Amino acid sequence: MFYRMPEFNYFRPRSLKEATDLITRLEDFKILAGGTDLLIDLRIGRYRPKNVVDISGIKELSYIVDEGGIIRIGALTKLQDIVESPVVRGKLLALAEAVEQMGSWQVRCMGTVGGNLCNASPAADTAPPLMVYEARVKAVSTRGEREIPITKFFKGPRETELMRDEILTEVIIPYIDGAGTATLKLGRRNAFTLSVVAVSTLAKVSNGRFEDVRIALNAVAPRPVRAVRAEEFLRGREVCMEVIDEGSKLVVKDISPVSDVRATAEYRRDMSVVLTHDALLKSLRRAGFAIGGE
Ligand SMILES: Cc1cc2nc3c(=O)[nH]c(=O)nc-3n(C[C@H](O)[C@H](O)[C@H](O)COP(=O)(O)OP(=O)(O)OC[C@H]3O[C@@H](n4cnc5c(N)ncnc54)[C@H](O)[C@@H]3O)c2cc1C
Repeated sequence: MFYRMPEFNYFRPRSLKEATDLITRLEDFKILAGGTDLLIDLRIGRYRPKNVVDISGIKELSYIVDEGGIIRIGALTKLQDIVESPVVRGKLLALAEAVEQMGSWQVRCMGTVGGNLCNASPAADTAPPLMVYEARVKAVSTRGEREIPITKFFKGPRETELMRDEILTEVIIPYIDGAGTATLKLGRRNAFTLSVVAVSTLAKVSNGRFEDVRIALNAVAPRPVRAVRAEEFLRGREVCMEVIDEGSKLVVKDISPVSDVRATAEYRRDMSVVLTHDALLKSLRRAGFAIGGE
């Protein structure tokens, strides 16, 4: 019946080793972290696993550590802990801005960063900021561990690079001194809403030119994307309003929005340009570079 929780065997490992050993043996399973995506998917019958492996009790996967130049966030770190982290607010403002607009306080107190990434929704809100920071994720199995660049992690809706026996354990986020970053999200209302489109940007200026510029968007393609053609146009150019206007328009070349219940493809395309423009100006201000008339 619709909305009825199906039956499954329930496992609750207490360590990462116990969890990886377990999923190596199990044939048909789903991992449960905060459950804010998975429990709905089980109820509507999107997945019908024989086994559910609840990893939420693995304490070693919840942390935020600043190692100087790199911040490590454990996959089971709750979204609300990220919002409240002085480290994230201080060094990864685009991530803080994205996460504070996700769901409600209740959802953020249950949902994890690893769950948001592994669910691989095209509208995943942690994806754009992590893409502009060029984060990597760590995947662990009984065979060992490996790092995957976030820009290569998403394969399509609900599909990632993770192998069936791998658990995502950590997000590794480098930050660049002197760069400004920002996230702007547009939904159908101001709060508690999924993205119609969200844009994260990073800008670093040297001698009045874009030394580094990165742009990432969600909800406008089958997976979150970097707007590489706009970035290529902007990199090395003089930082002025005309260049930002022209560069922002190029984001449409890397997106392929569709019309759905939240917005039309045309509206998403137009808003991608507007949000990119405004996020770039915000990033530039944060990098200490205000543009005349701004
Ligand atoms: C009311 C509501 C509002 C929401 N609003 C937003 C929003 O504004 N923006 C947004 O982006 N999302 C939103 N979400 C979606 C959801 O809350 C987030 O995606 C959340 O971060 C998911 O994390 P979780 O720990 O609950 O994942 P779970 O539901 O536990 O898992 C999600 C998926 O990832 C897999 N998984 C989880 N952790 C791991 C891991 N460590 N290794 C391997 N696989 C793993 C699971 O098997 C499952 O397939 C909302 C959800 C609800 C119910």
